[in-house]
Amino acid sequence: MAGTIWIPGAERIAPSSPGGTITSKAPPRVVWHTTEADPGTSSVWSAMIRVLKNKSAEPQVLYDPLTDRLGQFMPLNVGGRALRNDGATMTNRVGRVCIQIEVIGRSAKPFTGYWRPGKNFRAFMAAARSWGIKDVWPAGPPPRFIASPPHNVPESPRSRTIWLNRGGHYGHSHIPGNDHGDPGGISTTALFAASGTTPKELFTVGQYENLMQQIKNEGAATRQEVRRQAIWSLRYGLQTEEERARADRAFDDAIDAGKTLAEAMADVSQIMQPIAQDLEYRARQNG
Ligand SMILES: [Zn+2]
Repeated sequence: MAGTIWIPGAERIAPSSPGGTITSKAPPRVVWHTTEADPGTSSVWSAMIRVLKNKSAEPQVLYDPLTDRLGQFMPLNVGGRALRNDGATMTNRVGRVCIQIEVIGRSAKPFTGYWRPGKNFRAFMAAARSWGIKDVWPAGPPPRFIASPPHNVPESPRSRTIWLNRGGHYGHSHIPGNDHGDPGGISTTALFAASGTTPKELFTVGQYENLMQQIKNEGAATRQEVRRQAIWSLRYGLQTEEERARADRAFDDAIDAGKTLAEAMADVSQIMQPIAQDLEYRARQNG
């Protein structure tokens, strides 16, 4: 499937050097970043271009979520430069396309909470779909980012197996071999809604269990990490630190009692306050 190379309406920006040649046959994907600056002005737009070029860390696409301004450094079918390699794997070149978008914003303040997406955002999403990229997040929604001290809540799932084999949308916080926590806890449902679609595949308990099993198989997860990931999948119900501690205990008790991960999560969900309007939560209830 050949898709859009230059997004209609995007401003062309000269990169510091051309993007890398892609030979990967892995499914196509998008990687979301935030530049860690406040959006909305032409001065920040110019500053971000300067910073990305000086670091030789250009993505294919730059986006201002307040003004709907869209820029493009290089064709969508070459590798960008915003990811670190994962050992010998050239992470920027995994996927038939690996479209990276730097959103001007801060990971601690998810841009979907205040943005004003318009026709350029829709054009970006349409271009992603033209390559067969589905409205899915194979590693789950991006985790929340806490600025001080910097960490993701919970720690990011950075599964090699998922990254190398599954297409869809990822955050920088999901990518193996990388340690950045952007784009923070953006709303994946808001993202798709702004481009005029309702995602067909949402994150369910079954998918979550598969994800955790894969991470365990890769030997990367401690029990605490697994617990954090499991509870994170129910994060919309967590309101306070006290509730979080109760959730942690309920999870540990269930695992100590020999229950499966799904059963432990069911126990945890019983003591939490769901936010009913959240689509992902509802999908979990149904799934
Ligand atoms: Zn990033």
